[in-house]
Amino acid sequence: MARHPAPRHLVVGGAGYVGSHLVAELLSRGEDVTVFDDLSTGHAAAILPGAHFVRASLADQAAVDAVLADGPWHAVFHFAALSLVGDSMREPLRYLRRNIGEGLTLIDSCVRHGVKRFVLSSTAALFGTAGDGPISESTPIDPGSPYGESKWALERALAWTSRIHGLRYAALRYFNAAGADAQGRLGEDHAPETHLIPLTIDAALGRRPPLTVFGADYATPDGTAIRDYVHVTDLATAHLAALALLEKDRDAVFNLGTGSGNSVREVIAAVERVSGRPVPHTLGPRRAGDPPVLVAASDAIAAATGWSPRFRTLDEIVATALAWRQAHPRGYDDAMPDSRAS
Ligand code: UDP
Repeated sequence: MARHPAPRHLVVGGAGYVGSHLVAELLSRGEDVTVFDDLSTGHAAAILPGAHFVRASLADQAAVDAVLADGPWHAVFHFAALSLVGDSMREPLRYLRRNIGEGLTLIDSCVRHGVKRFVLSSTAALFGTAGDGPISESTPIDPGSPYGESKWALERALAWTSRIHGLRYAALRYFNAAGADAQGRLGEDHAPETHLIPLTIDAALGRRPPLTVFGADYATPDGTAIRDYVHVTDLATAHLAALALLEKDRDAVFNLGTGSGNSVREVIAAVERVSGRPVPHTLGPRRAGDPPVLVAASDAIAAATGWSPRFRTLDEIVATALAWRQAHPRGYDDAMPDSRAS
């Protein structure tokens, strides 16, 4: 009997934090995976053995076309973007030009090469001023930052290419990705690190200066900002749930969180509980562009696909992040150089 090859998946930005965890899920299901990444923020050591690797930038149109021409691709996943709200408030045009321009380059190449399924990493930052309640897919879009604006522009571009060219798309609006691969292979390693959970863990471990809490004067129960922390492996499984809808010729636009929020002070308390160490911290001013509360209503993806987060508590999420940071004090710099990277 003829054996059918496994469907091939292209993961653009697959050496980054969320992308690498998706690659892990795809590989665990026996899929054929190619990572396209320029390693500007990703890590060669985050590309698991078994994945193919093309080192190139989305700014390089010829390289993008070459990899798309090397199809057929069952699906293209797009994780490669500048992703810091605060930076985007300082450099709005860099964020808009890079994220929108490079995203359009990729989408255009997908259309020209007959790709049928595209999954975009989108963001809760579409809902900049959404108020205090859970944010659903019908909450009005109002990006609070150029970063959010850039993702909204790509969602709109994909809505048009689905309608006109039949490129079915998922836009997954991540709330706060957190935690690390439960098998300890992958974790969160940004340079510079700006995210709350790794900074809080490092402050507890005495590896960084005390944490600065950005704003303790919000109209929230304890005065600090509230976010919906969702485990990065749960985000990865949500991509596969959304892909199943695209395979039925449907588009899939979903907010992705756990449905409950935690304040900065609650994150500090969780890290103290899980690590058994105090978190030295000081109170500072608010960070520009930060909304007070961002919590997802995740019922839509649950109803459409059956997806639900497996890591349900902040302590479980923090435990995986702590384990990875304890095993990798210098992040991926502790890993062996990856001889497959070229
Ligand atoms: N935060 C903080 N101190 C820090 C980093 C972050 O108080 O050193 C706060 C930030 O203002 C936000 C929350 O922690 O309310 C989560 O921020 P993060 O940068 O992790 O994710 P974002 O919500 O910006 O995507």
